[in-house]
Amino acid sequence: MARKPRGTLRLITEKCIGCERCVGECPVDAIEMVDGVAVVDYEKCIVCGKCVKVCPTEVFYIEPPAGEAEEPAEVAESAVAAIQAEEERERAAQEELSRRLAEYSGVWVWVEHFKGEVHPVSWELLGKASELAQARGSKVAALLLGHQVGHLVQEAGYHGADIVYHIDDPVLADYRTDPYTLGIVSLVRKYKPEILLMGATTTGRDLAGSIATELKTGLTADCTGLDIDEQTGHLRQTRPAFGGNVMATILTQRHRPQMATVRPRVMRALPRDESRVAQVIHEELGMTKDRVRTRIVRWVPNDESELVNLQYAEVIVSGGRGLGGPEGFRVIEDLADALGGVVGASRGAVDAGWISHDHQVGQTGTTVRPRLYVACGISGAIQHRVGMEQSDLIVAINIDPNARIFQIADFGIVGDLYEIVPEFARQAREEGLKDLLLGVAESTASGG
Ligand SMILES: Cc1cc2nc3c(=O)[nH]c(=O)nc-3n(C[C@H](O)[C@H](O)[C@H](O)COP(=O)(O)OP(=O)(O)OC[C@H]3O[C@@H](n4cnc5c(N)ncnc54)[C@H](O)[C@@H]3O)c2cc1C
Repeated sequence: MARKPRGTLRLITEKCIGCERCVGECPVDAIEMVDGVAVVDYEKCIVCGKCVKVCPTEVFYIEPPAGEAEEPAEVAESAVAAIQAEEERERAAQEELSRRLAEYSGVWVWVEHFKGEVHPVSWELLGKASELAQARGSKVAALLLGHQVGHLVQEAGYHGADIVYHIDDPVLADYRTDPYTLGIVSLVRKYKPEILLMGATTTGRDLAGSIATELKTGLTADCTGLDIDEQTGHLRQTRPAFGGNVMATILTQRHRPQMATVRPRVMRALPRDESRVAQVIHEELGMTKDRVRTRIVRWVPNDESELVNLQYAEVIVSGGRGLGGPEGFRVIEDLADALGGVVGASRGAVDAGWISHDHQVGQTGTTVRPRLYVACGISGAIQHRVGMEQSDLIVAINIDPNARIFQIADFGIVGDLYEIVPEFARQAREEGLKDLLLGVAESTASGG
C-alpha cells in the first residue's frame, strides 16, 4: 500500500541561526548546513517533522499537499512515534547481537593429518592464528580429531596452540565428512570460538563447507589475507574476487564463528618451539560407526610421481608467454637445475599448451612461497601475483621496463630472457650466485 503523502517540508531560511539542532535530530540525514544555514535534501526527507519540533526559531514548517488541509498535528506525532519505536527496536536488536557475539572467543585451527602426518598448512594457520589471537587478546586452539594421533597433541603446542581440543575415536580413523563435522560442530557449540580456520585443501574445503552449513555461519574460501578490523574486532577476510581483478575484504558481522579457508603456503608457520606446552582438553565424539553415511572401501593413491611439487619447493623458476614457444622451457629448466629448484609457469604459457597445468602458479594454479622465485617473461597479472608474491625473494626478467612484475620484484632485470637466463644459470653453477641469492632471501624473510 502506498504511504500517504504528508506534504512537503518548507524552510524560512532567513530565520535560521545555524544552531544545527535539526541536523542532529534528522533520522535520515536529510539536512546539512551550507554557508551556515540549513538545507534540505528532498530525496532523503521523509517529512517526519522532527526538525520542526526541535528548531528554536521556527525555520521549518510542513506544507500540506495541494488541495488538502494542513496535516493534523497528531499525524506528524504518530509518524515521529513510529520512527522512534523503529529506532528503539534496532537499538535493542544491536545490543542483543553484541551480547551474543561477545560470548565467542579464541582463534581455532583444524589440524589436518593423513597417516599420522600433519599437513603443513595447519602449522601455517597456527602461525596466523597467533597473530589474530594477539590482536583480539584471546587464545589459540588446535582441533585434533582422529584415532591414535595423540603424538600430534603436543606437536600442535610446539607450533603455537595454547589449547588442544582432542577427540580420539576409531570412527575418526579415516577422514569422512559426517563424523568430522559432528565432532567439530559439537566442540564449537560447547566452547564458542570466535574464529575457525582450515586449510584450503581438498579435505579442508569439504569439511569447512559442511561445518559452516551446520552452524549457519559465514565462510570465506581461499583467503589470501586475514587480519582484525581495529574498530569492530571483526575478522577481515581478503581474497581475490571477480576473476581475480579485485581483492575483496569480507566480514562476517552477525554470525560466529567467522570461518575462513586458506591455501597452503599463504601464511607463515611459527618456528617449532618445544618449550611451549599446550593445555589439552579431551572430548568424546558420541557417534557410532553405523551412523556414518560413507564407508572407506579401499585407498587408490594418485600417481603423483610425474607431477611437479611446486607447493613446498624452495626455489622456483617460472616461464611465461615471453618464452615465445614450448622450447623456451629448456632454458627455464636449465636455470631451475642450476639453482636446485623446480619449473613453474604462468597461465599464459599453460594455456598456450607449452607446459602442463601442474606447473601453473597463481589463482587457478598453485600458491607458492619459495625462498627464491624467478619470473622469466611473465607480465605480472594479479592472478599470477596472488600465487607467488609471498616468496621471500623475487627476481624478475622482462624485456618491458614497465611490466607489472617489477612492482613486486626485489631484483628486476630488464632485457631479453634468452640472453639473461643462460648467463644467470652459468653464474649459479660457477660463481655461487645461488648461495648469494638464498642468503639475501634469508635476510628478506627475517625482515632484513
Ligand atoms: C579467472 C582467471 C584466473 C587466472 N589464473 C591465473 C593463474 O593462476 N596464473 C596465471 O599466471 N595467470 C592466471 N590468469 C591469467 C592472467 O590474467 C594473465 O593472462 C597471465 O598470467 C599472463 O601470462 P604471461 O604473463 O605469461 O603472459 P603475458 O601477459 O603475455 O606477458 C608476457 C611477458 O613477457 C615479456 N616478454 C616478451 N618477450 C620477452 C623476452 N624475450 N624476454 C623477456 N621478457 C619477454 C613481455 O614483456 C610480457 O610482460 C587468470 C586469469 C583469469 C581471468
